[in-house]
Amino acid sequence: MSVITLPSAQVAAGAGHLPPVCPRHGEPATEHRSVKLISRPPAWAAIFILGGGILYLIVALAVRKTVKAPAWPWCATCTAQRKKLLAIGLPLLAVGVLCFIGGIAANSDSTSPLLILLGIVALLAGTIVAGRGGQVPMTGAVVSGDGQYVEVKKGSDRFLMALNRGRTPV
Ligand SMILES: [Zn+2]
Repeated sequence: MSVITLPSAQVAAGAGHLPPVCPRHGEPATEHRSVKLISRPPAWAAIFILGGGILYLIVALAVRKTVKAPAWPWCATCTAQRKKLLAIGLPLLAVGVLCFIGGIAANSDSTSPLLILLGIVALLAGTIVAGRGGQVPMTGAVVSGDGQYVEVKKGSDRFLMALNRGRTPV
């Protein structure tokens, strides 16, 4: 595993500018997907949480850098992992909604609070699991704070090798 750093311009240039290898898993790309990669909110933005969640969201969105990757290499493992995460996350969300509604409908002092609590826990867990299965989180790629680079923290060495081969023709 290594940290992969790609110039944003190269990522945005699309097909042919990245090796046909999954940057995260190092497997041959089975397809290329169009994804909008984003930067993490900077640490200092956290101070705005004090001003309320909405203020934080506005600030985080305002300073967010995005890079449109028209042809991000996507492999069979990406597809399999995404399927698995969604297969767990989405039913959890459904169970959460059912428990929550059931708790309110039951209108009983003994079972309602328990069902509502269960519902909230399942909703949270489902959101986290299904969220990790999102197309952008699946890539493992994050835009740098200045927007100049795209980084894959747990990148594949095979991708790096393919990238270097492309730079220095043998
Ligand atoms: Zn992959």
